Amino acid sequence: MRFNTSLLHGNRISGNQGERTIDATLPPIVQSSAFAKDSAADMEKIFHNQKPGHSYTRISNPTVAEFEQRMTVLEGGRASIACSSGMAALFNGLMGMLQSGDEIVSSASLYGGTIDLFRDLEAFGITTRYVENNHLDDFREKTNEHTRCYFAETIGNPRLDVTDIRKLAELAHENKVPLLVDNTVATAYLVRPLELGADIVINSTSKYVNGNSNSISGVITDGGRFPWDAKRYPGLKDYRKYGPFAYTAKLRNTLFRNTGACLAPQNAFYNIIGMETLGLRMERICDNAEHLARHLEKTCDFLTVNYPGLGRSPWHAVAKDQFSSRYGGILTIRAGTKENAFRMIEALQLPLQVSNIGDTKSLVIHPASTLNAHSTPKEKEEAGVFDDLVRVSVGIEDIHDLIDDFDQAVRQMMKS
Ligand SMILES: *Cc1c(COP(=O)(O)O)cnc(C)c1O
Repeated sequence: MRFNTSLLHGNRISGNQGERTIDATLPPIVQSSAFAKDSAADMEKIFHNQKPGHSYTRISNPTVAEFEQRMTVLEGGRASIACSSGMAALFNGLMGMLQSGDEIVSSASLYGGTIDLFRDLEAFGITTRYVENNHLDDFREKTNEHTRCYFAETIGNPRLDVTDIRKLAELAHENKVPLLVDNTVATAYLVRPLELGADIVINSTSKYVNGNSNSISGVITDGGRFPWDAKRYPGLKDYRKYGPFAYTAKLRNTLFRNTGACLAPQNAFYNIIGMETLGLRMERICDNAEHLARHLEKTCDFLTVNYPGLGRSPWHAVAKDQFSSRYGGILTIRAGTKENAFRMIEALQLPLQVSNIGDTKSLVIHPASTLNAHSTPKEKEEAGVFDDLVRVSVGIEDIHDLIDDFDQAVRQMMKS
């Protein structure tokens, strides 16, 4: 099944979703905290993972399970766990394998919230070593006997560098560590990291998967292939018997349920509806972004436009090789000064000034004074955040309206 068909029918036809008791074309929203059973023996079995079933929505829920199955199909994985936010998915995804004394080696070009999270983890004895420019040699150099995980974003936000997932996964496996990839910005529409060798994929599904910015959520999807060595990953020792489901079984039975990171059924439903049009939206969004980037590059030589689809981008070759002929919906513009950046943002009529990405509507923000306000100057530099940088998350508007709006905003910026 191809991408768009699979979004609509993949879960049903693969038999993942099981028997539905009603014949609605959409999954029911099972807005219930608890699930009653007829027999005490059944309840015991469910609690001991000897029988499938739901007992309490903090652990699992039928609507959330359907969303998880659809995410598993989308990313081509073995199992998924849906969380209350992308940050909850990142926290659980990492802590599901790490313990005090372990180290992460990560690309430095990350979403600001992730940099903050890695700093929080230091209080629990988990250290992150950052690699600049996503260079493989630096990943190799920063790896030591404590390293237990490699981490990168498919497309770094907002630096827009592109990780060579195949090569990084090879290096991770040489060093006996799993590769975790945050695929939020690229989405499975551009690339499925698990197919290129990554072990676990995290998505903030608040963004493109949901599509309309109506709920916060995140998903951990496991490829089910990483061989969890009992000595290096003691927390997974008792779960190795679940084979490809070891990691998700461990999470669901420990940290995920015990931190209460569960997704609300209503929000799972919104995501299911949203993700059916992921392919259509991404097609339009990527085409708009590329068109706008080329237009600004051509007409405004005093601006520096960064977009992986431009031949000038240092990451264009990797992006071209790895992605399915499109380059994502985010572009950045360096306006020269912070004042210029602010003027441009304020002059734009169509894009909403908000902190997220991945909406149907175009969105714009000044990252240095907002998302990365808590980063040190060095962290900002490594994350590609400059004082004159404007980030645009391109929407599905008619491209000529977007171009007209950016043209008038640039003219106003130059006038003042
Ligand atoms: C938004 C985002 C997150 C965090 O997700 P939330 O759903 O806001 O918690 C993580 N990584 C990336 C790349 C993001 O864009």
